[in-house]
Amino acid sequence: MFVTNHVLAGALVGLCLPRNPAQAFAGGVVSHVIMDLTPHCGDATLTAEEFFEIAKRDGLLGLGVLAVVMAATPAPRRGVVAGVAGAVLLDLDKPCRQFFGVDPFPRWLSRFHHWIQSEAPHRLPHEVAAGSVLAIAAAGGLIGRSWMARKAMVT
Ligand SMILES: [Zn+2]
Repeated sequence: MFVTNHVLAGALVGLCLPRNPAQAFAGGVVSHVIMDLTPHCGDATLTAEEFFEIAKRDGLLGLGVLAVVMAATPAPRRGVVAGVAGAVLLDLDKPCRQFFGVDPFPRWLSRFHHWIQSEAPHRLPHEVAAGSVLAIAAAGGLIGRSWMARKAMVT
């Protein structure tokens, strides 16, 4: 699954748990596993260069989404930060291997993460649809949180 979609899912989890970062982090990790289990886009025949060209664009889009979410989230933001951190944690193996030559996770965890993947190259529409639904849900969550924050200031 694209990291941008994991960022959106983690933000959504964090928006639901604004004052409980531990639960938001755990929920973010769970969201990652569930999303990797669902059919999504991936191509094992890509070269390392081709993979990182896509990953670079996805990573930059994910950072942009994170910046927008953080700017739009009313305080407290720790739930959203924790949710996103949990949601992207398992995918840190790829940049760590690329830039530092090491997998930061125990072998059993990396094997599990690889084993749960349900990837196929023709599933780009699945990724876009999932990202669109998550973006709409996160926007709804942001609107709701902002409304509740304004209401709390008035009362
Ligand atoms: Zn993953």
